[in-house]
Amino acid sequence: MKILNLGAGGFIGTHLTERLLNEGHSVIGVDTHTDKIQESLDHERLTFVNRDIRQCDFDLEDMMRDVDLVIDLIAYANPGMYVKMPLEVFRLNFDENMRIVEACVKKRKRLVQFSSCEVYGKTPVASLEGRLPDPENPEYATFSEDMTDLIMGPVCKHRWIYACAKQLLERVLHAYGLKKELNYTIIRPFNFFGPKIDYLPSETDGIPRVFSYFMEALLTGTQMKLVNGGTHRRCYTYIDDAVECIYRIVENPGNVCDQQIFNIGSPKNEVTIRQLAETMREIYAEKFKKPNVPLPEIVKVTGEEFYGKGYEDSDRRIPDISKARTLLGWEPKFGLRELLERTIAYYAKG
Ligand code: UDP
Repeated sequence: MKILNLGAGGFIGTHLTERLLNEGHSVIGVDTHTDKIQESLDHERLTFVNRDIRQCDFDLEDMMRDVDLVIDLIAYANPGMYVKMPLEVFRLNFDENMRIVEACVKKRKRLVQFSSCEVYGKTPVASLEGRLPDPENPEYATFSEDMTDLIMGPVCKHRWIYACAKQLLERVLHAYGLKKELNYTIIRPFNFFGPKIDYLPSETDGIPRVFSYFMEALLTGTQMKLVNGGTHRRCYTYIDDAVECIYRIVENPGNVCDQQIFNIGSPKNEVTIRQLAETMREIYAEKFKKPNVPLPEIVKVTGEEFYGKGYEDSDRRIPDISKARTLLGWEPKFGLRELLERTIAYYAKG
Protein backbone atom coordinates (compact mmCIF):
# COMPACT_ATOMS: atom_id res chain seq x y z
CA MET A 1 0.00 0.00 0.00
CA LYS A 2 0.94 3.64 -0.30
CA ILE A 3 0.10 5.32 3.00
CA LEU A 4 -0.08 8.99 3.99
CA ASN A 5 0.98 9.16 7.63
CA LEU A 6 0.17 12.57 9.10
CA GLY A 7 2.13 13.03 12.31
CA ALA A 8 4.77 10.46 11.30
CA GLY A 9 7.49 12.14 13.37
CA GLY A 10 5.85 11.79 16.78
CA PHE A 11 6.12 8.94 19.28
CA ILE A 12 3.47 6.65 17.78
CA GLY A 13 4.11 7.91 14.24
CA THR A 14 7.81 7.04 14.30
CA HIS A 15 7.27 3.50 15.57
CA LEU A 16 4.38 2.95 13.17
CA THR A 17 6.27 4.30 10.15
CA GLU A 18 9.16 1.94 10.90
CA ARG A 19 6.75 -1.01 11.01
CA LEU A 20 4.97 0.03 7.78
CA LEU A 21 8.32 0.30 5.97
CA ASN A 22 9.48 -3.06 7.34
CA GLU A 23 6.29 -4.66 6.04
CA GLY A 24 7.03 -3.38 2.52
CA HIS A 25 4.63 -0.41 2.32
CA SER A 26 5.47 3.02 0.93
CA VAL A 27 4.92 5.94 3.27
CA ILE A 28 4.52 9.67 2.81
CA GLY A 29 5.27 10.97 6.29
CA VAL A 30 4.37 14.51 7.32
CA ASP A 31 5.58 16.17 10.51
CA THR A 32 7.03 19.36 11.91
CA HIS A 33 9.68 17.32 13.79
CA THR A 34 12.32 15.01 12.36
CA ASP A 35 14.45 14.05 15.36
CA LYS A 36 12.52 10.94 16.48
CA ILE A 37 12.26 9.55 12.95
CA GLN A 38 15.94 10.15 12.02
CA GLU A 39 16.71 6.44 11.61
CA SER A 40 14.06 5.98 8.89
CA LEU A 41 14.64 9.22 6.97
CA ASP A 42 16.93 7.62 4.38
CA HIS A 43 14.60 4.71 3.67
CA GLU A 44 13.89 4.42 -0.05
CA ARG A 45 10.14 3.92 0.47
CA LEU A 46 9.72 6.92 2.79
CA THR A 47 9.00 10.38 1.43
CA PHE A 48 9.23 12.74 4.38
CA VAL A 49 7.57 16.14 4.22
CA ASN A 50 8.92 18.34 7.00
CA ARG A 51 6.01 20.78 7.17
CA ASP A 52 3.14 21.98 9.34
CA ILE A 53 -0.28 21.14 7.88
CA ARG A 54 -1.50 24.50 9.26
CA GLN A 55 0.52 26.41 6.66
CA CYS A 56 -1.99 27.96 4.27
CA ASP A 57 -0.35 26.53 1.14
CA PHE A 58 -0.30 22.97 2.48
CA ASP A 59 -2.50 21.08 0.03
CA LEU A 60 -3.95 18.04 1.82
CA GLU A 61 -5.98 16.85 -1.15
CA ASP A 62 -2.96 16.93 -3.40
CA MET A 63 -0.89 15.11 -0.79
CA MET A 64 -3.41 12.24 -0.63
CA ARG A 65 -3.93 12.08 -4.41
CA ASP A 66 -2.60 8.58 -5.06
CA VAL A 67 -2.52 6.99 -1.58
CA ASP A 68 -4.54 3.96 -0.47
CA LEU A 69 -4.90 5.00 3.14
CA VAL A 70 -4.60 8.10 5.34
CA ILE A 71 -3.51 7.83 8.98
CA ASP A 72 -4.13 10.89 11.13
CA LEU A 73 -1.96 11.17 14.22
CA ILE A 74 -1.77 14.94 14.29
CA ALA A 75 -2.59 16.14 17.80
CA TYR A 76 -1.48 17.96 20.92
CA ALA A 77 -1.87 15.09 23.35
CA ASN A 78 -0.28 16.16 26.65
CA PRO A 79 -2.60 17.17 29.53
CA GLY A 80 -0.34 20.07 30.53
CA MET A 81 -1.14 21.67 27.18
CA TYR A 82 -4.91 21.27 27.60
CA VAL A 83 -4.63 23.46 30.69
CA LYS A 84 -2.08 25.95 29.38
CA MET A 85 -3.32 26.52 25.82
CA PRO A 86 -6.88 25.17 25.45
CA LEU A 87 -7.72 27.10 22.29
CA GLU A 88 -4.65 25.89 20.40
CA VAL A 89 -5.52 22.36 21.54
CA PHE A 90 -9.04 22.74 20.15
CA ARG A 91 -7.87 24.28 16.88
CA LEU A 92 -5.34 21.59 16.12
CA ASN A 93 -7.30 18.62 17.48
CA PHE A 94 -10.61 19.61 15.96
CA ASP A 95 -10.35 22.25 13.21
CA GLU A 96 -7.21 20.90 11.56
CA ASN A 97 -8.30 17.30 11.95
CA MET A 98 -11.63 18.23 10.33
CA ARG A 99 -9.74 19.50 7.28
CA ILE A 100 -8.12 16.07 7.01
CA VAL A 101 -11.50 14.32 7.40
CA GLU A 102 -13.07 16.49 4.72
CA ALA A 103 -10.20 15.93 2.30
CA CYS A 104 -10.66 12.16 2.83
CA VAL A 105 -14.40 12.49 2.12
CA LYS A 106 -13.70 14.44 -1.04
CA LYS A 107 -10.95 12.12 -2.26
CA ARG A 108 -12.78 8.99 -1.03
CA LYS A 109 -9.83 7.77 1.03
CA ARG A 110 -10.00 5.36 3.93
CA LEU A 111 -9.02 7.14 7.16
CA VAL A 112 -7.48 5.67 10.31
CA GLN A 113 -8.17 8.38 12.86
CA PHE A 114 -6.36 8.48 16.19
CA SER A 115 -8.64 9.60 18.98
CA SER A 116 -8.03 9.08 22.70
CA CYS A 117 -9.16 7.16 25.79
CA GLU A 118 -9.70 10.67 27.22
CA VAL A 119 -13.11 10.58 25.49
CA TYR A 120 -14.25 8.24 28.30
CA GLY A 121 -13.61 11.06 30.78
CA LYS A 122 -14.20 10.10 34.40
CA THR A 123 -15.74 7.02 35.99
CA PRO A 124 -19.24 7.07 37.56
CA VAL A 125 -17.39 6.65 40.87
CA ALA A 126 -15.72 10.06 40.43
CA SER A 127 -18.84 11.82 39.20
CA LEU A 128 -21.01 10.44 42.03
CA GLU A 129 -18.33 11.29 44.62
CA GLY A 130 -18.43 8.33 46.97
CA ARG A 131 -22.13 7.56 46.62
CA LEU A 132 -21.57 4.14 45.04
CA PRO A 133 -21.35 1.26 47.56
CA ASP A 134 -18.51 -0.59 45.82
CA PRO A 135 -16.23 2.09 44.33
CA GLU A 136 -13.35 -0.35 43.74
CA ASN A 137 -15.42 -2.47 41.36
CA PRO A 138 -13.38 -2.47 38.11
CA GLU A 139 -16.60 -2.60 36.07
CA TYR A 140 -17.11 1.12 36.71
CA ALA A 141 -13.78 1.87 35.07
CA THR A 142 -13.79 -0.67 32.23
CA PHE A 143 -14.74 1.19 29.10
CA SER A 144 -16.09 -0.47 25.98
CA GLU A 145 -16.13 1.32 22.65
CA ASP A 146 -19.80 1.24 21.74
CA MET A 147 -21.50 0.95 25.12
CA THR A 148 -19.94 3.37 27.58
CA ASP A 149 -21.42 6.79 28.37
CA LEU A 150 -18.76 9.44 28.22
CA ILE A 151 -18.62 11.51 31.42
CA MET A 152 -16.63 14.71 31.42
CA GLY A 153 -16.08 17.42 33.99
CA PRO A 154 -17.35 21.01 34.04
CA VAL A 155 -16.41 23.61 31.42
CA CYS A 156 -14.29 25.57 33.94
CA LYS A 157 -12.02 22.52 34.17
CA HIS A 158 -10.59 23.13 30.74
CA ARG A 159 -8.54 19.97 30.70
CA TRP A 160 -11.62 18.40 29.11
CA ILE A 161 -11.40 20.53 25.97
CA TYR A 162 -9.13 17.91 24.42
CA ALA A 163 -11.50 15.06 25.24
CA CYS A 164 -14.45 17.08 23.88
CA ALA A 165 -12.60 17.94 20.65
CA LYS A 166 -11.73 14.30 20.10
CA GLN A 167 -15.23 13.17 20.94
CA LEU A 168 -16.80 15.67 18.55
CA LEU A 169 -14.41 14.55 15.82
CA GLU A 170 -15.47 10.93 16.41
CA ARG A 171 -19.12 11.96 16.14
CA VAL A 172 -18.44 13.72 12.83
CA LEU A 173 -16.76 10.58 11.47
CA HIS A 174 -19.71 8.50 12.61
CA ALA A 175 -22.11 10.91 10.86
CA TYR A 176 -20.13 10.72 7.60
CA GLY A 177 -20.17 6.93 7.96
CA LEU A 178 -23.98 6.97 8.27
CA LYS A 179 -24.14 8.82 4.97
CA LYS A 180 -21.68 6.31 3.48
CA GLU A 181 -19.39 9.15 2.52
CA LEU A 182 -16.36 8.00 4.51
CA ASN A 183 -14.72 4.71 5.38
CA TYR A 184 -12.94 5.17 8.70
CA THR A 185 -11.56 3.40 11.75
CA ILE A 186 -11.11 5.20 15.06
CA ILE A 187 -8.37 4.22 17.52
CA ARG A 188 -8.52 5.10 21.21
CA PRO A 189 -5.03 4.58 22.70
CA PHE A 190 -4.72 3.84 26.42
CA ASN A 191 -1.44 5.31 27.63
CA PHE A 192 1.29 3.95 25.37
CA PHE A 193 4.84 3.89 26.79
CA GLY A 194 8.11 3.18 25.02
CA PRO A 195 11.33 4.70 23.71
CA LYS A 196 10.85 8.26 22.39
CA ILE A 197 7.55 8.76 24.23
CA ASP A 198 8.37 12.39 25.07
CA TYR A 199 11.22 14.80 25.53
CA LEU A 200 12.46 15.17 29.10
CA PRO A 201 11.12 18.35 30.79
CA SER A 202 14.58 20.01 30.62
CA GLU A 203 14.81 19.35 26.87
CA THR A 204 11.55 21.07 25.92
CA ASP A 205 9.44 24.12 26.67
CA GLY A 206 6.38 21.86 26.27
CA ILE A 207 4.79 19.90 29.11
CA PRO A 208 5.48 16.18 28.73
CA ARG A 209 3.60 13.25 30.28
CA VAL A 210 4.27 11.61 33.60
CA PHE A 211 6.96 9.18 32.38
CA SER A 212 9.30 12.01 31.39
CA TYR A 213 8.88 13.86 34.69
CA PHE A 214 9.65 10.71 36.66
CA MET A 215 12.52 9.74 34.34
CA GLU A 216 14.20 13.12 34.69
CA ALA A 217 13.82 12.91 38.46
CA LEU A 218 15.62 9.55 38.39
CA LEU A 219 18.43 10.84 36.19
CA THR A 220 19.03 13.95 38.29
CA GLY A 221 18.03 12.84 41.80
CA THR A 222 15.33 15.52 42.06
CA GLN A 223 11.83 14.92 43.45
CA MET A 224 9.20 12.69 41.80
CA LYS A 225 5.98 14.63 42.24
CA LEU A 226 2.63 12.89 42.74
CA VAL A 227 -0.15 15.14 41.51
CA ASN A 228 -3.05 15.05 44.00
CA GLY A 229 -1.36 12.20 45.85
CA GLY A 230 -0.89 9.88 42.85
CA THR A 231 -4.06 7.88 43.59
CA HIS A 232 -5.37 7.96 40.04
CA ARG A 233 -4.86 4.90 37.88
CA ARG A 234 -3.73 4.16 34.36
CA CYS A 235 -3.19 1.01 32.27
CA TYR A 236 0.15 1.32 30.52
CA THR A 237 0.68 -0.33 27.14
CA TYR A 238 3.99 -1.03 25.44
CA ILE A 239 4.42 0.67 22.08
CA ASP A 240 5.29 -2.63 20.28
CA ASP A 241 1.99 -4.16 21.44
CA ALA A 242 0.17 -1.02 20.32
CA VAL A 243 1.85 -0.95 16.90
CA GLU A 244 0.95 -4.62 16.38
CA CYS A 245 -2.73 -3.79 16.85
CA ILE A 246 -2.54 -0.61 14.76
CA TYR A 247 -0.87 -2.60 11.99
CA ARG A 248 -3.71 -5.13 11.98
CA ILE A 249 -6.15 -2.22 11.70
CA VAL A 250 -4.15 -0.86 8.76
CA GLU A 251 -4.31 -4.28 7.06
CA ASN A 252 -8.06 -4.47 7.81
CA PRO A 253 -8.56 -8.18 7.07
CA GLY A 254 -12.03 -8.79 5.58
CA ASN A 255 -12.83 -5.09 6.13
CA VAL A 256 -13.67 -5.86 9.77
CA CYS A 257 -12.40 -2.45 10.87
CA ASP A 258 -14.69 -0.38 8.64
CA GLN A 259 -16.69 2.16 10.65
CA GLN A 260 -15.36 0.69 13.91
CA ILE A 261 -13.83 2.18 17.03
CA PHE A 262 -11.05 0.21 18.75
CA ASN A 263 -9.62 0.56 22.24
CA ILE A 264 -5.93 -0.30 22.27
CA GLY A 265 -4.55 -0.94 25.73
CA SER A 266 -3.33 -3.47 28.29
CA PRO A 267 -6.06 -4.00 30.90
CA LYS A 268 -3.75 -6.12 33.09
CA ASN A 269 -1.19 -3.32 33.51
CA GLU A 270 -3.23 -1.12 35.82
CA VAL A 271 -1.29 0.92 38.43
CA THR A 272 -1.81 4.01 40.54
CA ILE A 273 0.56 6.85 39.71
CA ARG A 274 2.19 6.30 43.11
CA GLN A 275 2.86 2.66 42.21
CA LEU A 276 4.23 3.82 38.87
CA ALA A 277 6.69 6.15 40.64
CA GLU A 278 7.73 3.44 43.10
CA THR A 279 8.15 0.78 40.42
CA MET A 280 10.17 3.09 38.18
CA ARG A 281 12.41 4.01 41.12
CA GLU A 282 12.88 0.34 42.02
CA ILE A 283 13.81 -0.67 38.46
CA TYR A 284 16.15 2.28 38.13
CA ALA A 285 17.87 1.46 41.44
CA GLU A 286 18.32 -2.18 40.43
CA LYS A 287 19.52 -1.75 36.87
CA PHE A 288 20.56 1.76 35.93
CA LYS A 289 21.51 3.86 38.94
CA LYS A 290 24.66 6.01 38.71
CA PRO A 291 26.68 5.88 41.97
CA ASN A 292 26.97 9.66 42.41
CA VAL A 293 23.26 10.50 41.96
CA PRO A 294 20.87 9.86 44.90
CA LEU A 295 17.51 8.16 44.36
CA PRO A 296 14.70 10.71 44.25
CA GLU A 297 12.30 11.39 47.05
CA ILE A 298 8.58 10.91 46.20
CA VAL A 299 6.45 13.92 47.26
CA LYS A 300 2.84 15.09 46.86
CA VAL A 301 1.74 18.26 45.04
CA THR A 302 -1.69 19.63 44.14
CA GLY A 303 -2.98 19.62 40.55
CA GLU A 304 -3.16 23.40 40.61
CA GLU A 305 0.47 23.75 41.77
CA PHE A 306 1.66 21.38 39.07
CA TYR A 307 -0.52 22.29 36.09
CA GLY A 308 -2.28 25.54 37.06
CA LYS A 309 -6.02 26.29 37.24
CA GLY A 310 -8.43 24.21 35.15
CA TYR A 311 -6.86 20.82 35.79
CA GLU A 312 -8.99 17.82 36.59
CA ASP A 313 -8.11 14.20 35.97
CA SER A 314 -9.41 10.91 34.67
CA ASP A 315 -9.55 8.89 37.88
CA ARG A 316 -9.34 5.43 36.37
CA ARG A 317 -9.59 3.86 32.91
CA ILE A 318 -9.34 0.23 31.91
CA PRO A 319 -9.76 -0.72 28.25
CA ASP A 320 -12.25 -3.37 27.28
CA ILE A 321 -10.30 -4.93 24.41
CA SER A 322 -12.73 -7.69 23.49
CA LYS A 323 -13.37 -6.09 20.10
CA ALA A 324 -9.68 -6.10 19.11
CA ARG A 325 -9.38 -9.66 20.43
CA THR A 326 -12.39 -10.92 18.50
CA LEU A 327 -12.01 -9.06 15.22
CA LEU A 328 -8.22 -8.89 14.99
CA GLY A 329 -6.97 -11.73 17.22
CA TRP A 330 -4.83 -9.19 19.07
CA GLU A 331 -3.58 -9.60 22.63
CA PRO A 332 -1.04 -7.33 24.37
CA LYS A 333 2.05 -9.24 25.52
CA PHE A 334 4.17 -6.87 27.61
CA GLY A 335 3.67 -6.68 31.35
CA LEU A 336 4.19 -3.46 33.29
CA ARG A 337 7.67 -4.24 34.63
CA GLU A 338 9.04 -5.26 31.27
CA LEU A 339 7.66 -2.25 29.43
CA LEU A 340 9.02 0.07 32.11
CA GLU A 341 12.45 -1.58 31.98
CA ARG A 342 12.60 -1.16 28.22
CA THR A 343 11.44 2.45 28.28
CA ILE A 344 13.72 3.44 31.18
CA ALA A 345 16.68 1.73 29.45
CA TYR A 346 16.24 3.93 26.39
CA TYR A 347 16.47 7.12 28.46
CA ALA A 348 19.03 5.89 31.00
CA LYS A 349 21.49 4.85 28.32
CA GLY A 350 20.99 8.21 26.63
N1 UDP B 1 1.29 13.15 37.08
C1 UDP B 1 2.02 13.11 38.28
N2 UDP B 1 3.30 13.65 38.29
C2 UDP B 1 3.89 14.20 37.20
C3 UDP B 1 3.15 14.23 35.98
C4 UDP B 1 1.85 13.70 35.96
O1 UDP B 1 1.55 12.62 39.30
O2 UDP B 1 5.04 14.62 37.30
C5 UDP B 1 -0.03 12.48 37.04
C6 UDP B 1 -1.19 13.22 36.36
O3 UDP B 1 -1.84 14.09 37.26
C7 UDP B 1 -2.09 12.05 35.95
C8 UDP B 1 -1.09 10.94 35.62
O4 UDP B 1 0.13 11.31 36.26
O5 UDP B 1 -2.87 11.61 37.04
C9 UDP B 1 -0.85 10.73 34.14
O6 UDP B 1 -0.55 11.96 33.55
P1 UDP B 1 0.05 12.12 32.09
O7 UDP B 1 0.55 13.51 31.95
O8 UDP B 1 1.03 11.04 31.81
O9 UDP B 1 -1.16 11.94 31.07
P2 UDP B 1 -2.60 11.27 31.06
O10 UDP B 1 -2.43 9.82 31.43
O11 UDP B 1 -3.46 12.01 32.04
O12 UDP B 1 -3.05 11.46 29.65
